[in-house]
Amino acid sequence: MIIVMLPGATHREVDGVVARIEAAGLRVHVSRGEERTIIGAVGDVRRLEPEALQVLPGVERVVRILHPFKLASREWHPEPSVVKVGDVEVGGDRLAVIAGPCSVEGEEMLVEAAKAVKAHGASILRGGAFKPRTSPYSFQGLGVEGLRMLAKVGKSLNMPVATEVLSEEHVGIVAELADCLQIGARNMQNFALLQEVGRTGKPVILKRGLMSSVDEWLQAAEYILSEGNHKVILCERGIRTFETYTRNTLDLSAVPLVKKLSHLPVIVDPSHATGRADLVGAMSKAAIAAGADGLLIEVHPDPPKALSDGQQSLRPDEFGRLMGELERIASAIGRPLTGVCHSGSGRQNSGRQAGSGRAAGMV
Ligand code: PEP
Ligand code: MN
Repeated sequence: MIIVMLPGATHREVDGVVARIEAAGLRVHVSRGEERTIIGAVGDVRRLEPEALQVLPGVERVVRILHPFKLASREWHPEPSVVKVGDVEVGGDRLAVIAGPCSVEGEEMLVEAAKAVKAHGASILRGGAFKPRTSPYSFQGLGVEGLRMLAKVGKSLNMPVATEVLSEEHVGIVAELADCLQIGARNMQNFALLQEVGRTGKPVILKRGLMSSVDEWLQAAEYILSEGNHKVILCERGIRTFETYTRNTLDLSAVPLVKKLSHLPVIVDPSHATGRADLVGAMSKAAIAAGADGLLIEVHPDPPKALSDGQQSLRPDEFGRLMGELERIASAIGRPLTGVCHSGSGRQNSGRQAGSGRAAGMV
């Protein structure tokens, strides 16, 4: 349930409503907008009759939110949310590109990848230290050592870093060393993990589960929001369908749909969505045209030698060309890219053809 306060409602009136909700045993989230304050009451709302709130001083109206997600909904927060990762805004006037290797494989390759993505205009560096591999025999990531490398390289290049956190036990260290925590597709419904990252208050990229509906995805976001962490970035990364030419099927319609349902920023990961470097460019452009707030793209200095996801990783020169093309689309839709962008030329063409995206162990 949300309580919309009258424009100019006093602090005292807001406090009065908050006290009434808390007395009914519900949790309160207050959103102070420029014009008015909106109060969210979450929990078992049957304990509180809307009429009891409607009569309180300063209240304009009481609205029941019918969606299963509340704090993620547009009703609760009508304006789009902007999430700051370091100094980079995601969901604002500009588009953010997060790029880097699938896995941190060593410092040298990470520096090479990071310098390249930064030079081409990416504003956030990504790299996996804890990897959710399909096979237990595949490269599992460098763990804390990789995390430290990522933090060091990000700092040296003045780039905020994003990395996946796989388990509750590592939330503390990842929150300490990274600027943004990623919840991977396979963990989208690991509710204890969601609550733990919610308690860190750090920005979180929440990937859509492989087989999750939009409702389930937004309810997963709700787990983080309801812990008081409102810095959630949603990431569409493709869902499983019967198609085998691509690793997943990019659900582009989810972008405008989720932006309608929710105030949270939505980015697209065309790398995991397609599993094919040769399709990443087209899907990146389509994602931006569809209204995504940014992209998450895997880039590797030498993709054939990558320890994970080489088949879908762009080479730095391919990434540079793509950024040039994206820059033109971004300016056409009036949302320039964050970061310095070099204009590229020609069509993006990796020259590599990935096969079916179902190879075992792909991350
Ligand atoms: C990743 O970003 O490297 C990753 C494993 O992504 P996903 O959880 O979307 O598969
Ligand atoms: Mn990957």
